[in-house]
Amino acid sequence: MLFLEFSLIFLFSFFLAVLASFFNVVIVRTIKEESFSKGRSKCDFCKKQILWYDNVPILSFLWLGGKCRYCHKKIAKVYFLTELTSFLIGVGFGLLFLISPPLQALAIEQLVLYFFIFFVLFFVLLADLQYMIVPDFFVILLLVLVFLLKLVVSGSWLEPIMAVIFSSSFFILLGFVAKKLLKKDALGWGDVKLMIPLAFMLSWPMIAMNIFLAFIIGGFFAMLILISGRKKIGQALPFAPFLILAFVLSFFYGAAIWHWYIGLILR
Ligand SMILES: [Zn+2]
Repeated sequence: MLFLEFSLIFLFSFFLAVLASFFNVVIVRTIKEESFSKGRSKCDFCKKQILWYDNVPILSFLWLGGKCRYCHKKIAKVYFLTELTSFLIGVGFGLLFLISPPLQALAIEQLVLYFFIFFVLFFVLLADLQYMIVPDFFVILLLVLVFLLKLVVSGSWLEPIMAVIFSSSFFILLGFVAKKLLKKDALGWGDVKLMIPLAFMLSWPMIAMNIFLAFIIGGFFAMLILISGRKKIGQALPFAPFLILAFVLSFFYGAAIWHWYIGLILR
């Protein structure tokens, strides 16, 4: 009886691995400022085109032994690891869905949209951690997904739009002040752009908590990194991971954090 469910989970997980492979291409070609819509993938070293059967997510890396078929140079492990992670995310989420009545109770289109918003955010996190970039492609994809979610869930448009205006003006103002004080760009435009879909989804007033938590977590990590001597003051840190981490916390635990905080003040 479970055969159908497991087959669907396998297909879904493999689809995520394919998507991961494509998202990796998006990230790499964003850095190289190439178009990712056309042109087949090439080996980074010998520039030979990669054959379709050498480009199957997860599997090709294994049967090629992690090396290019032609020049035998090592293929970056990060592609394989993100594809495998995505596959495992699919399996984990599928199994969770099978045993979780609250997930099954959600409308399927809502569940799908929520899932892919967090899945894309995972790749924004990877892109910013590896290369300190937030590809526009992901921001636009997120905008489309949160807009569709808004249509599906319905409800007031006023608070989401207020949240977008609030977060954008906050970051632009902060960037302006920081530039006056530090005489250089302290905030990336990528972070400002990323805030737009996040703010639209979280809505007002939860977006204020997202930004607040991002600075708390970011400040804490910056301190740790400074103490450990891995970076010096003035060196840039990727900020999107903190925004995303704070977004996830605000989205799932925002109300609980708020009550805890209010309880702390009013004690
Ligand atoms: Zn090669």
